[in-house]
Amino acid sequence: MDAKNPIKYVVVGGGIAGVTCVETLSVFGDSASITLLSASPLIKTVVNYSKLTQVAETFDVKEKPIVSVEEKNSNVHVIQTSVTSLSTKDKKIYTSDGCSITYDKLCICTGGKPRVIAEGNPLVIGIRDTESVKDFQNKVRKARRIVIIGNGGIATELVYELEGCEVIWAIKDTSIAHTFVDAGAGEFFLEHLNKDKDKTPAGPSKRLKYTTAEAGEPGIPLPSGHDGGALGPDWTRDLEIRGHLDQISHRVHVEKGVEVDTILSPDEFKESGMEESSPWSHTSGVNNTAGNDFLLTALWPVYITFSNGRVYGCDLVVSATGVVPNARFTEERDGDSQFELAEDGGIKINSHMETNLDSVYAAGDVCTACWEHSPHWLQMRLWSQARQMGCYAAKCMIADVKNEDISMDFCFELFAHVTTFFRFKVVLLGKFNGQSLGNDYEVLLRVTKGEEYVKVILQNGRLVGAVLIGETDLEETFENLILNGLDLTPFKENLLEPGVDVEDFFD
Ligand code: FAD
Repeated sequence: MDAKNPIKYVVVGGGIAGVTCVETLSVFGDSASITLLSASPLIKTVVNYSKLTQVAETFDVKEKPIVSVEEKNSNVHVIQTSVTSLSTKDKKIYTSDGCSITYDKLCICTGGKPRVIAEGNPLVIGIRDTESVKDFQNKVRKARRIVIIGNGGIATELVYELEGCEVIWAIKDTSIAHTFVDAGAGEFFLEHLNKDKDKTPAGPSKRLKYTTAEAGEPGIPLPSGHDGGALGPDWTRDLEIRGHLDQISHRVHVEKGVEVDTILSPDEFKESGMEESSPWSHTSGVNNTAGNDFLLTALWPVYITFSNGRVYGCDLVVSATGVVPNARFTEERDGDSQFELAEDGGIKINSHMETNLDSVYAAGDVCTACWEHSPHWLQMRLWSQARQMGCYAAKCMIADVKNEDISMDFCFELFAHVTTFFRFKVVLLGKFNGQSLGNDYEVLLRVTKGEEYVKVILQNGRLVGAVLIGETDLEETFENLILNGLDLTPFKENLLEPGVDVEDFFD
């Protein structure tokens, strides 16, 4: 590399993974040429970063105009465009506006697309980016009843935040928030589902927070497609999501263990001869006192039938059934430039964040980590992992250019995620749900109704995972116990005893 002929790093995607990658390249990449290409006019950047523990992190995410990356990092050039294809033979990428850009090292951070059922139906929406949230907010204003499908973080937050309309929450599992917590913690949350929300300000947020920029603000053109970056933590925090029914604060019915069979128009429903079910006649987790058969009289704009035979009418269906990695460009250029994909559709990457294609790396939601994971880490498509992967990918690219060895970043030693559900702080550590442990583990529980839920997972006497809900203040201690692999057999009986300071055992 020399000043006349600098190394060319190209990063595709202006989400957290791409922007972190570019910022890291800008700091450590010497006098390289760095280009960020992104389809969306807004990028996401991490601010107020701090560590809750050695691994668990908190930060705010700010949405900014794409040019802000250039303003902050003088050695970075940004282009708002969509990448359509790639030729590894020529080391070039091609864009929708007919340009080609050469690279020495390329990192793909194109995120994921929502997996939307009944795509194209205007009454079925997937929530992904700022635009889709605004669309949802507008549509929800007129809604009396909404069906939400999915059991991950987005569905869980949405169900809690939505007011002024009935919510039918359809989940394929037997307990709520199943992507993150077990049935016990699901039960812990369930009783808060229909409670009126505490409207007092929550105080400073200790978890990841998300701030949007307004399209149309200076430097922020209106977006033109659906390639925006994914939303992230706290995306509901400052949003008013209110339906049409003033008399309802919060009314949620959970339809458990079901999958969607069909989505019907009012005419199709009439022709089918099916009968509409009432969510409130047999119900779980619901405030059932008011009854509301007044909503059953007219035809609904859309009907949804479930695998258990029940049929509900509603104004809007929200499909929050996860994302599919955005791993394929629209055109095929040369046959050698095909990414090897994992079973979940992500681009396979090795422990150096390299794909199967020469000099092409990937990070964030688009990729699947195919290295041999540390016993306490697992991949989840989360904002924190997008940041960590973007940063590590940049370091790997630089190390490769310099022919240096690089060891795996420490953040991949332990899974750690901090979030909030139903206004409870939630910290997940290690194999928090016993993932991949089979039946070979033991669970210790401490539950104080309405206050905290503490679950630890022990394998061979050693702590391998924890779910901490509420202000438990145990995250640091438990993280250390997982990392140092101490045999806890002698302390097991006292480990979760209330009033006992666990740290005292290990002084
Ligand atoms: P993205 O943020 O999706 O960014 C992808 C970028 O690639 C975008 O800038 C896009 O414009 C660009 N792009 C795509 N295709 C092209 C192309 N062909 N050419 C050029 N550019 C392209 N995570 C949490 O940790 N906690 C949460 O509470 C949480 N809540 C969420 C709530 C919602 C509603 C959603 C949708 C996600 C949530 N997530 C949460 C997940 C989190 O937002 C993602 O894991 C994270 O943002 C992924 O970042 P990324 O950079 O990999 O991808």
